[in-house]
Amino acid sequence: MPSVCVFLGSSPGHNPAFGVAAEALGRELARRGLTCVYGGSDTGLMKRLADGALAAGGQVHGISVGGLQALEIQHQGLTTLEVVPTMHARKARMAELADAFIAFPGGIGTFEEFFEAFTWARLGIHAKPCGVLNVEGYYDPLLDLLDHAEREGFIRACDQDLLVRATSPEAMLDGLAARWEGR
Ligand code: AMP
Repeated sequence: MPSVCVFLGSSPGHNPAFGVAAEALGRELARRGLTCVYGGSDTGLMKRLADGALAAGGQVHGISVGGLQALEIQHQGLTTLEVVPTMHARKARMAELADAFIAFPGGIGTFEEFFEAFTWARLGIHAKPCGVLNVEGYYDPLLDLLDHAEREGFIRACDQDLLVRATSPEAMLDGLAARWEGR
């Protein structure tokens, strides 16, 4: 599993623990020799992730959207910064480059990107593992909603099984690696 894409907040969130955890995830990716793929921003949790990985000597590949430059502040210290023309092109490139996907705490952009990757796994468009890193219980409501959707007959148990649920970077990366090796 050479590279992992992380979707996460362009904002820092209110709880300082989110930034600390984002840096820890970046460090752990670097420690395992995994390239970190992300949206290329120099703000919020996105920046903390990239800086954590870079400080630990890791490879970070950012994919930024050119037309959104007013909104997106590009991180200038990445090992690779790629600029693509559209949001769709960004997601396609992330899906191409990454071997696994993580939803880290974030907002609408994070949800949208992650659920596309998860949907594609479910449909068999790719066989790359997906995980929700539930830092400080941030994703409890989302995981409850997925369970609710299963009880109500909208999500199959086997689709839920596609999703790695973890609360630490180490457990998340162990879980993704096990799924990746067992594909
Ligand atoms: P959000 O969770 O709404 O902050 O969105 C973050 C996610 O969407 C990231 O994974 C990015 O790929 C993308 N994104 C949304 N807004 C931005 C932004 N201002 N700068 C960089 N990436 C962004």
